[in-house]
Order: sequence, then structure tokens, then C-alpha cells
Amino acid sequence: MKILVANLGSTSLKWRLFDFSNSPERLLHKGGYERVSDYSKAIRDCLAELQSAGHIHSGSDLAAVGFKTVIAQGVSGCVRLDESVLAAMEAFNGLAPAHNPPYITGIRLFSQILPGVPLLGLFETAFYQFAPEANMRYAVPENWYQLGIRRWGFHGASHKFIAERSAELLGRPDVAERARRLYVDGGATPVSGPPLRIISCHLGGSSSITGTLNGAAIGTSMGLTPQSGLPQNNRVGDLDSFAVPYFLRQTGATIDEAERQLCKEGGLKGLSGVSNDMRDIQTAADQGNAKAKLALDVFVASARQWIGSYLLQLNSVDALVFTAGIGENRAELRAAICASLDQLGIILDPDKNAATRATEAVISSASSRVKILVIPTNEELVVAREVKRQLERP
Ligand code: ADP
Repeated sequence: MKILVANLGSTSLKWRLFDFSNSPERLLHKGGYERVSDYSKAIRDCLAELQSAGHIHSGSDLAAVGFKTVIAQGVSGCVRLDESVLAAMEAFNGLAPAHNPPYITGIRLFSQILPGVPLLGLFETAFYQFAPEANMRYAVPENWYQLGIRRWGFHGASHKFIAERSAELLGRPDVAERARRLYVDGGATPVSGPPLRIISCHLGGSSSITGTLNGAAIGTSMGLTPQSGLPQNNRVGDLDSFAVPYFLRQTGATIDEAERQLCKEGGLKGLSGVSNDMRDIQTAADQGNAKAKLALDVFVASARQWIGSYLLQLNSVDALVFTAGIGENRAELRAAICASLDQLGIILDPDKNAATRATEAVISSASSRVKILVIPTNEELVVAREVKRQLERP
């Protein structure tokens, strides 16, 4: 069984092809195009690449195409992407303007180019379906809540991967199995050992921090939209809701302009005035740029605030995990986030930390009660596994 997972950006198409014929499943192919102007051509080129590499004879060799869909009104989990689900995604375009529209367009093109091949989406909100309601509600009037204004949570595929993989690495196959089966049984798979408490830090172009107990999320830093939580690359992160009406009245700007600035001119870019990329910000900070240094400090302070929140809610933590572009590659930020936490049992090994880049590793010192791990995320694999499970459902 071959499952293609397609990652759709507004001008990019990336994919991974998995083969589930044997266990464990195998990654057969990965690739992608940037600066795509003709999406339909990009999809056909992708299929042609898979053919010329000998992985498929035609599109009908694909058991399904899976998508890491973001959010839809009234829909979560892993579902067939029929017109009713696309309409539900469209209804929440306003919450994910950078993500939902390209996904909807791309999915429609895939269905034209691959008629008969099932298209399924694993929504990023899925991992938070079982989180306690107290952690997912805002104190808004009921009619706001009825419009869907609550915390939803994102990066679900990544945090689910970390929940599974960290449990395996910590010698807890029971928790890994519970995490793997979460969308099938809602957490009914029993755990045989003591509670396993993980805080996973997905730090990248966009960042979120999630607390998990026995493989299931208890809450996450992103709320209603992926614009919230930690400062994002150029998106604002957490902001007092009264800032928006205040800004509009002070400047006479339109709502669209305020939204554009919060999406494109905020976050690390807005703070640093340099770039939305950590590499450039770090270089500028090292050269003495005070704003760049401040952007790094705000990012670290925000990460620590969320880690602290889950440390308290979980009544301790067994492992603190770093993943995604920044989490996997930027030792100096991991060190800043873990600084002075020895009283909480969190002690980094500076040499192991400095030596670790984009690879699975334990970077805590031998005396650290809490394991500190780097685990490269694999969101596409989570999507492919859930798609397979959904296809095989009776
Ligand atoms: P996205 O959320 O767009 O997938 P990534 O997870 O790739 O983004 O994270 C992008 C961020 O991670 C950037 O700020 C970049 O500086 C940092 N980053 C990514 N790859 C590397 C690397 N190889 N070395 C250092 N920093 C990196």
C-alpha cells in the first residue's frame, strides 16, 4: 500500500511517498517545488517524478493521498476530503488565511488529476480533541464561543509524533501505543506504568509548546489560530485582544491592514527589524544589534512561560523535547530556554547540546532528573499512518 502525503503552500508543493507493504513502513521518495505558479502542473510533475523513479506506474497505484490539513468548522481527526469537508475548511478560512485557501485549491486539483484516489486530511487540531475543556476555553460570551472562538491548537501531527517517539525512547512502549491509537479510541488504550509527562517544544518558522500526559495533549500554546502563542516568524503570537481596537482607533487603519501587519510584520521580524529567520537574527544579535537580541530574549521568555505552565499542570515532567527547524538546529536557543532550571531537575549537558543538530539525541546531563531530548519531527509519517488506519477501517 503506497500513500502519498502532500504538503501544500500557497506557492510550494512538497511530498513524501510511503510504502506500507511491510512493517515498519518505508519512505520511498520525497521532493518538492518552490515558487509554483501552475499548481496543476506541479502535481502532474510530482506524479511524473514518482513514475520515473519507478515507485508507481500511474496515479491509481496510490492507495490515497494524505494532507496535513489545518482547521475546519465542526470537523477534526482524519477524514475523507469531500466537498462538505472542503466547505467546512472554507468556513474557517478567516482563522487560517495562509493555510486553508491553498489547501482547498490544491485538494480540488488533486481530485481532478487523480479521480478515484481517496484524498484524506489529518487536521492539525486533532491532537487536542481530548484535552481538558478548561485548557481550551476563552472567557468570551457564549455567542463568541458558538462562532468557534475557543482554543483549537495546531502542530498536532508534530506533537503527536513527539508523544509517540519520546515514549519509545524513554522505554515506554505502553504510552507509545496509547499515543498511536489516540484517534482510534480516544485514549482508552491502558497504560501499564506510572504517568509519562512530556513537554514538547516545536520551535520553527511557527512555534508551539504542548504538554502531554500518557501520550495525549493536555493543552498547547497556540489557541484560536496559528497566530497565537510564542512569537512566530512574522506572525504576532499572543497579544491582548484590546490591542487591536486600540490600534485601529489610534491610527485609522482598516481591519485588513491591522491583520496584514499582525501576520506579516509582527513576530520575530517585527521585534528584530532584521528578519523572520533565526539564523539572520542570531547573526545580527552577535554583531551587537540590540533589537535582534531582544527578539531572541522575547522568544526564549515566551517558551519558558509555556514550559513552566505545563510543568505545573503535569506536576513535573519526565522529558523536555525540542523539535522543528529551531528546536533541532539551534543549540544556543535550547541552552537559553533550559538555563537555570537545575532546581526543577532540568540540566543541559553543554557539550552534547552543542554537538546536536538535526538528529535524535539526549542532551541532558547525567545528573538531570528530567531527560532533555532532540527529536527530528516527522509530521508526514503521522499523516500517512492515520490515513492508512482510516482506509482500513471496517
Ligand atoms: P517551518 O515552520 O516553515 O517548517 P522550520 O521548522 O524549517 O520552519 O524552521 C525554520 C526556522 O528554523 C528558521 O528560523 C531557521 O532559522 C531555523 N532553522 C531551520 N533549519 C536550520 C538549520 N539547518 N540551521 C539553523 N537554523 C535552522
